[in-house]
Amino acid sequence: MITIFMKNFKKNLINQATYDDYIHSLTLSDIPCPYCNQVHSLIHHANYTRSIKVLTHKVQLSIHRVLCTKCRTTHALLPSFIVPYSQIDTSTMISIVFHQDHHSVLENNPLLELSNIRYILKQYNLQFKSFLSSFSSEPLIVIIQHCFYLCF
Ligand SMILES: [Zn+2]
Repeated sequence: MITIFMKNFKKNLINQATYDDYIHSLTLSDIPCPYCNQVHSLIHHANYTRSIKVLTHKVQLSIHRVLCTKCRTTHALLPSFIVPYSQIDTSTMISIVFHQDHHSVLENNPLLELSNIRYILKQYNLQFKSFLSSFSSEPLIVIIQHCFYLCF
């Protein structure tokens, strides 16, 4: 997986055309393979469908996969608004973890349920809290950029 940091992204503009435009604006030859670190080796390989809950509706995206011609591994090109293995977008997850008012999060995201919030908080406490605290002196944007492969 290669997560592409998307600056100035607007949640209400998540759709296939926006994703495709952004992916096509990338220069694949500039992106090193995350497995073997070789540049000039990634080529478009395939697509797979991914669902994500955005505000009041579910969006289906055809995610691009690339193949490294050197080590033969494949990698999905995930925009930074998608959290791997989750249908809940990144900004909603941040709202859940860092804001106490979960009722407003539920009101703004009608597809979410209280069980989703409990699960995200449990995962945050189990897996991410100690990781993020290791960056305690860094501004939040620097921490976020450490989590992504490309930063624009
Ligand atoms: Zn490779």
